[in-house]
Amino acid sequence: MGKAESEYRYNRLTWPEMNEAISLQKLVLLPTGSTEQHGRHLPLDTDVFLSEAVCLEVGRRVPDKVLVLPPIAYGLNLHHIDFPGTVHIEPEIFIAFCLNITKSVAYHGFEKILLVNGHGSNGPLIDLVARKTTLQTSSLCFACGYASFLWDKFAEIRESAVAAHADEFETSLYLHLAPDRVQMDKAEKGDDRMGTYVSSDSTSRFVRFNDYWGRWSQLGVHGDPTVASAEKGEIIFAAAVEGLVDLVDELREWPIAERADMHEQPVQNDIRW
Ligand SMILES: [Zn+2]
Repeated sequence: MGKAESEYRYNRLTWPEMNEAISLQKLVLLPTGSTEQHGRHLPLDTDVFLSEAVCLEVGRRVPDKVLVLPPIAYGLNLHHIDFPGTVHIEPEIFIAFCLNITKSVAYHGFEKILLVNGHGSNGPLIDLVARKTTLQTSSLCFACGYASFLWDKFAEIRESAVAAHADEFETSLYLHLAPDRVQMDKAEKGDDRMGTYVSSDSTSRFVRFNDYWGRWSQLGVHGDPTVASAEKGEIIFAAAVEGLVDLVDELREWPIAERADMHEQPVQNDIRW
C-alpha cells in the first residue's frame, strides 16, 4: 500500500504522494468550526475541535478513501462578540477564503469535496461555498454538519429539550474526547428569549433570527450542559462518524454527468459570472 492510501491527513503528503491520492480520487474533507465562547465550562475551540475530531476519526476508519484538510478555525460570530475571546469573520470573507481552498483542491484534480461543519452560523455559508465550487469548477462539492448524523441516536438518550450551543450534546462530545478540558463544575443551563414565532437564537421553526447574545444571555449557553456525560458523547460521536463513513461511499460513487444544453441558438460561452 502506498503512503497516499494509508495517510488520511491532507498536508502530511508530499506532492508526488498527492499525485497518487488524486489518482485514487480520495474524497477531500474540509472541517469548519469557530473560535467562539462556549459558556463558562467549555473552551473556545469547541466547534472546530469537534468537527475536526469527527473528520479525523472518519480518516482513521477509511484512510484509503479520504483526505482531511486542516480545519477552518474561524467563522461568522459577531453575535457572540460580547463574550471575551470570540473571533468574528465577515461572511463574504469566510465564503471567499473557503472557496479559494475548495477551488485549489478541485484544480489539482480531486473531483469530490465535502465540507463538514461544526458551527451552526457557518451553515448558510458552507452551503454557498459548496454551490459555488460545484458551479465554477468541474468537481462536485457537498456541505453538511456532522451533527445531522447523530440526531437520531441523541434523541434516544437526551435529557434536555434544547440542542443549540455549549449544551448537552456538545458538552457530551467534549467530555468523551478530552474530559480534562471541560469544567463541569461551571456548567449551567441557559435559555434564549422565546416568542410565539421568534426566538433569539434561531430555534423558532417560523422565523430566522439571531440576536446579539449579549442582549439575552450573560452565560453564553443555550441548552443544558449539566446533563451531559462522556458516555452519551461516546454514543453520539460513533453515530456521527458512522454516518459520515457511509456518506463518503455515497459521494465517491456519485456520478458527474455531462451537462445537456437545451438551447437551439448559440449561447454566450464567454460570459463569466
Ligand atoms: Zn458550538
